[in-house]
Amino acid sequence: MKALAVDFGGSHATCGLVEDDRLIALEKIDVGDAHSVNSVLPQVAESFRRLLGENAVSAETCAGVAMGLPSIVDARTGAVLDSRAKYEDSVGFDLAAWSREQFGLALRAENDARMALLGERYAGAAQGFSNVIMMTLGTGIGGTAMIEGKLLRGKHAQAGCLGGHLPVLFTGRRCMCGAIGCAEAEGSSWALPLVARDWPAISTSRLAPVSDRLNFEELFHAAELGDTVEILVMGGGVLKREATIVPFVQKYLDHHAWTEWGKVQVKPAQLGNNAALLGAVPLLTERFE
Ligand SMILES: [Zn+2]
Repeated sequence: MKALAVDFGGSHATCGLVEDDRLIALEKIDVGDAHSVNSVLPQVAESFRRLLGENAVSAETCAGVAMGLPSIVDARTGAVLDSRAKYEDSVGFDLAAWSREQFGLALRAENDARMALLGERYAGAAQGFSNVIMMTLGTGIGGTAMIEGKLLRGKHAQAGCLGGHLPVLFTGRRCMCGAIGCAEAEGSSWALPLVARDWPAISTSRLAPVSDRLNFEELFHAAELGDTVEILVMGGGVLKREATIVPFVQKYLDHHAWTEWGKVQVKPAQLGNNAALLGAVPLLTERFE
């Protein structure tokens, strides 16, 4: 089964043509500061047409369009319910009508983290598992859950959103959302310079000269060199440094999780930034009750 898929991210939208668990081709669109579906969708349509043309695939042979958004999305109705300042005009936008008009195809929209979990389960690290939690750590922090083979959505499409705005430190810093001590404010990449600034030992760290523009790459490099400031990593990390972060999380869970039945397995995602695109086929073929 072939499908068109687009994943709307913070700095770019990624468009893909997929066939089952294989990504045939992809294109990235720089969205700059646009963050508006009205301004980005025409480029998405152009990109889809290029991908179809270059790969000699006609839209009619595709099962549909799958769209991931960094928002609270009700996949059952296709409605974006809340965008938290990301693609704000997607709330109330008739995405399904856009897909029908442009390509004559049905559209399914879903939260990007949920779509990534569908992808990892279909074609990546979670193949063969029915109960999965997926955390994505980077510019923001996202999380989602699958229980007994079904995405956890709940009545308001918000269940299982173990996202970056859950408070993890009541005495923490103010988040860009206005709340105190959100996971993102304590451990995502945008907060790293703020975390570094407040860290008592920062002046003795090799990171001191770059602390005001610190990123995860520099942080992990310093950690691997034995820099004491490595404790800054609060579960945040990037996939490329799985050798550093995964054993740390596994050890912590082994020690602290109350799981009499055994151990929770911690696995790095396999599909990287393409996970959401590979969630297209399972999303388009999911049957809602
Ligand atoms: Zn927040």
